[in-house]
Amino acid sequence: MSLFDLSPRAEKYRADLLEFMDSHVYPAEAVYHRQMAEAGDPHFHPPIMEELKAEARSRGLWNLFHPHPEWGPGLTNLEYAPLAEIMGRSPLASEACNCAAPDTGNMEVFTLFGTEEHHEKYLKPLLDGTIRSAFAMTEPDVASSDATNIEMSMVRDGDGYVLNGRKWFASNAMHKNCKVLIVMGKTDPTAAPHRQQSMMVVPIDAPGVTVVRNLPVFGYHDREGHAEILFEDVRVPSKDVLKGEGEGFAISQARLGPGRIHHCMRAIGVSERALELLCRRAQSRVTFGKPVADNANIRDWIAEARIEIEMIRLLTLKTAYLMDTVGNKEARTEIAAIKVAGPNIALKIVDRAIQVHGGGGVTDDFPLAMAYAHLRTLRLADGPDEVHKRAIAKQELRKYRDLRPTS
Ligand SMILES: Cc1cc2nc3c(=O)[nH]c(=O)nc-3n(C[C@H](O)[C@H](O)[C@H](O)COP(=O)(O)OP(=O)(O)OC[C@H]3O[C@@H](n4cnc5c(N)ncnc54)[C@H](O)[C@@H]3O)c2cc1C
Repeated sequence: MSLFDLSPRAEKYRADLLEFMDSHVYPAEAVYHRQMAEAGDPHFHPPIMEELKAEARSRGLWNLFHPHPEWGPGLTNLEYAPLAEIMGRSPLASEACNCAAPDTGNMEVFTLFGTEEHHEKYLKPLLDGTIRSAFAMTEPDVASSDATNIEMSMVRDGDGYVLNGRKWFASNAMHKNCKVLIVMGKTDPTAAPHRQQSMMVVPIDAPGVTVVRNLPVFGYHDREGHAEILFEDVRVPSKDVLKGEGEGFAISQARLGPGRIHHCMRAIGVSERALELLCRRAQSRVTFGKPVADNANIRDWIAEARIEIEMIRLLTLKTAYLMDTVGNKEARTEIAAIKVAGPNIALKIVDRAIQVHGGGGVTDDFPLAMAYAHLRTLRLADGPDEVHKRAIAKQELRKYRDLRPTS
């Protein structure tokens, strides 16, 4: 088997997933938009989503992301990559297959660091798709791309902690089924910078938790939402501290590796769909006596898009392979690289697809405008481009550190 072959089991999932997309997911998109429009509530949970989930589950297309055989099919990152890409082609597919962020990352955290009680109360219902979860790290009052800045106080009190602080951008917290938050804060501001933080499990309806508002993204109120949440004297028992006091930073590193690469896999799927829409539109619309596709600049865009998609796919597969073979820590430079390259290239392709669609491209008659808004957030979510580039440059410069002048 060469590097470019899929394993037989991944090939089977790929074929089944492609069939599911054609037979159920794409046809469901119009139904989904109609049900959402009729409900008039941006956070409505449309019945079509539960129908898709039931269908995906009956076909075994469920929890494909989960690397631990006890809880999912146990695919490697390399096997999962082409599947996440296919799901990325529709905004409905990841949730339909119970592979949507931030639940995937949260399920991994519960798997690795949760207690038996957390497994029963949260992990199993999450794996069943009956509840959803959010991850609350970012704060409005501090530059949160540097996680050591996080200020939420987690003060020990008897056999537990009292939480006070304000979070924002907790994705999923407006989802009708969201039941639990994983919250990062400071337990010991006097400890070493990476030992000050802890992560705690907090039910979303715990006394003192207030979901203040949803934050629109370029005017879109995403169904799952990105919430601002206020914590006022929220009591958390010690048993709900994940892994132990001072382990918050380490957990966030463990959580974000797979999450980042999943975003990139899906971004490749968005790019493929945008290129397909671009080509279909350019072939079928005529200006100045010839199809739009017959203009040299449009062909140039198409060729560039194909080249760039192949490049990010290869880099993503290499990253997945390294995560599988040498581990997330050793693959951190590649993870950072793909986190920057994936969304930026996808944005460029979607932008050109919008252009070829003319005015229609910026409306909701096509999936491009919403895809653009979503992809643009990926240059920020899970760490802004600049922070990942900083990490890559640091690794690169390390090779030449003996050339630095000594003072
Ligand atoms: C749609 C969406 C969903 C999100 N979901 C979640 C979620 O579920 N949970 C959660 O906790 N957070 C979430 N976030 C928050 C996201 O992770 C943060 O916005 C991001 O980490 C940046 O933090 P900040 O907004 O505080 O920006 P800041 O830290 O204030 O940084 C602002 C800008 O400064 C620049 N910058 C920072 N450091 C450097 C540097 N070293 N060199 C050069 N420039 C630099 C970058 O351009 C950066 O964008 C989400 C964000 C969005 C937009």
